[in-house]
Amino acid sequence: MSDVAPQSLPPAAPKPLRMVLVVACALLDADGRVLIAKRPEGKALAGLWEFPGGKLEAGERPEAALIRELHEELGITVKEACLAPLTFASHAYDDFHLLMPLYVCRRWDGFVSAREGQELKWVAPARLRDYPMPPADEPLIPHLIALQA
Ligand code: C5P
Repeated sequence: MSDVAPQSLPPAAPKPLRMVLVVACALLDADGRVLIAKRPEGKALAGLWEFPGGKLEAGERPEAALIRELHEELGITVKEACLAPLTFASHAYDDFHLLMPLYVCRRWDGFVSAREGQELKWVAPARLRDYPMPPADEPLIPHLIALQA
């Protein structure tokens, strides 16, 4: 019998997580309140509140995706010049890594309406913590509170 210790294998490298790119927007009204939308039943993270937006389509620029999503979800028309980048979220979920730039928008055309039947609320940034959000979105809150300062 050999007295050589069996060689231990190096730990397996963690499997790289799939990247998902979502773009989101803090629409701010004249009173400085921000619009949040409740994720509907049947979707991942249903019942949590998020900033409107969505996934980029293949080859789409973030601003173009946001303009498209805001029109589809809320019926408003946003000019690209009215989208100001604020920060971005980066969060590793169990099965993917989410990257989510957050823009701020104070001017748009049309009236905000829940085009997809989603629940909407205008909330003062300091009250956003009263609304449970996906873990990727929560770190964005202080950036919105800082805007009011
Ligand atoms: O909105 P959608 O389901 O297409 O987004 C893909 C995934 O990104 C969600 O399942 C959710 O985990 C995550 N997400 C998030 N915060 C958002 C939007 C999406 O964490 N505001």
